[in-house]
Amino acid sequence: MTELHTKLHDIYDEVARRNPGEDEFHQAVYEVLNSLGPVVDKHPDYVDRAVIRRLCEPERQIIFRVPWLDDSGDVQVNRGFRVEFNSALGPFKGGLRFHPSVYLGIIKFLGFEQIFKNSLTGLPIGGGKGGSDFDPKGRSDGEVMRFCQSFMTELYRHLGEYTDVPAGDIGVGMREIGYMFGQYKRITNRYESGVFTGKGITWGGSQVRTEATGYGTVFFVDEILRSRGQSFDGKKVVVSGSGNVAIYAIEKVSALGGTVIACSDSTGFVHDPAGIDLDLLKEIKEKRRARLAEYAEARGSSQLVANRSVWEVECDIALPCATQNEVSGTDARHLIESGCQIVAEGANMPCTPEAVKYFEDAGVTFAPGKAVNAGGVATSALEMQQNASRDSWTFSDTEARLAEIMRRIHHRCLATADEYGQPGNYVAGANIAGFIRVADAMLALGLV
Ligand code: GLU
Repeated sequence: MTELHTKLHDIYDEVARRNPGEDEFHQAVYEVLNSLGPVVDKHPDYVDRAVIRRLCEPERQIIFRVPWLDDSGDVQVNRGFRVEFNSALGPFKGGLRFHPSVYLGIIKFLGFEQIFKNSLTGLPIGGGKGGSDFDPKGRSDGEVMRFCQSFMTELYRHLGEYTDVPAGDIGVGMREIGYMFGQYKRITNRYESGVFTGKGITWGGSQVRTEATGYGTVFFVDEILRSRGQSFDGKKVVVSGSGNVAIYAIEKVSALGGTVIACSDSTGFVHDPAGIDLDLLKEIKEKRRARLAEYAEARGSSQLVANRSVWEVECDIALPCATQNEVSGTDARHLIESGCQIVAEGANMPCTPEAVKYFEDAGVTFAPGKAVNAGGVATSALEMQQNASRDSWTFSDTEARLAEIMRRIHHRCLATADEYGQPGNYVAGANIAGFIRVADAMLALGLV
């Protein structure tokens, strides 16, 4: 780890001491503070008026019991979280993650990242995140519904279109949003569309929200390529994961002329040099909720590779779209050796600090999740806009807005990196631009 600016060192130590055992949260805070040295030199106010210390402390944290009955009639008990991190720019906004690895440190890292990501979109949304250690894998539809209803029976009191607006994340898609929105509506007796995003089209959802994170990721990489006079044409791309982000990243890469030759899930990866068969992948992952082994079986030409990393597959562009810390230092070295030129994070913090350091040293372009994957939450903000005006836009209009938002984020990152003397550094650009917008709002709103 590089040494932090002296004024930021104590702040980081305090965060680590006051939040013991929350490794991912420490990692996310360190990564942002590491970019802010030149900012506090220029604007000492941010430290003197404790803006950074306040940013590292969530405004409110809710932890609650989620009891529910499984199909055998046994009682199950999970833990629910909502960390309302910062509302200087708008209502708390961020997804819910249902995954067995969820604990407070994961939700806080995600919530912290969300503040800067949402700020970077330029839209009026604060940052928050929530979820549960509930594992939806292998659960029946009825079990998922009962869990969601129990989760919402506590969480509803903390939500509202002007207060806190959740959406999906790992393990939470349109089905889960539907069950939670339904329970919210029932308890409150209000059809408050703006309280959730990621809703179905017939009940208040927006076109392109499902595709937004994956499409936005690829739009961002397209901007990187354009800034160098290049395009996706003929590029070999590896995508990790095969969930919502990965599927729509694969779709957009193909539409722009690139070929995605590998993708993965928790059981392994498939290498398909002719290009991943997207219809088959969607059928297996979205409809059947099955494993990648079924893709390999149906495809015949490809095999599921277990116990090895998808980053061993040679590519020009790598899009990690699975989960946090999935790209290790060793993976980074493989990518560098195989000639990969661009790594862009579709997931939240998928690259370890060691991997990022290798990319920087090797001159591989690295673009961080809080800029690259911001298209998901940006389209959520567009959904809120449509809900507030009781309107709905066409697919092409909404997609054009998403593309424009990604172009602006890309420009903001590069312009800010330039301004702070680090041309081409997307990490510095994203962290500094995201930070300044929210920090200025906090200063304007007084000591709250
Ligand atoms: N979970 C997504 C993210 O990481 C989307 C959040 C949202 O739409 O509120 O940004």
